[in-house]
Amino acid sequence: MKLSRRQFLKVGGTAAAATTLYSFGFKPTAEGTTRGFRLHYSREITTICPFCGVGCGIICHVRDGQLINTEGDPDHPVNEGTLCSKGSSLFNMANVYDEDGNIIPNPNRVTQVLYRAPKASEWEVVDWDWALETVAKRIKKTRDDHFIEVNSEGVTVNRNPAISWLGSAMCNNEENYLYHKTARALGLVNIDHCARL
Ligand code: SF4
Repeated sequence: MKLSRRQFLKVGGTAAAATTLYSFGFKPTAEGTTRGFRLHYSREITTICPFCGVGCGIICHVRDGQLINTEGDPDHPVNEGTLCSKGSSLFNMANVYDEDGNIIPNPNRVTQVLYRAPKASEWEVVDWDWALETVAKRIKKTRDDHFIEVNSEGVTVNRNPAISWLGSAMCNNEENYLYHKTARALGLVNIDHCARL
């Protein structure tokens, strides 16, 4: 098909406008009409990407208590709006789209405390109170049973090699600082983190 210069500019301009509208959230429906701006009346809440130690900033759009969109935070000094493929998929931790393009809760998201007893093969649902109390009791017992005040050469070490702690990239700097302080107070030396924070 031959296009004059004027026709080419018209087609190109229309495509650019459609792409821009789409990127702003105006999506065409199956009926050929256009849905309203999908972030309309949403509130912006900033957070940190939970996946690695780079710590990219993300904007979460929330409407009526529901997360409806996530995207890179252009004001964040680390990523300046960009996200890698993992960070770009953050939205799907909470929600997915159904076949009609509607947002629905991600059916694979774990929303309850799951516990697998020693030697058991199945997970069971437990409540938070039971889980926290059980973890606290086991930490206390393991620390009491294995705490080493002085090593074989008579040097004071105050350490507990029987517990390992793994941090979370979901935590911010301050939370990780407290997490680390708590671990050290227990005498732990086996401390690590998926992002080495
Ligand atoms: S996973 Fe990607 S988006 Fe998330 S903090 Fe790391 S580099 Fe940034």
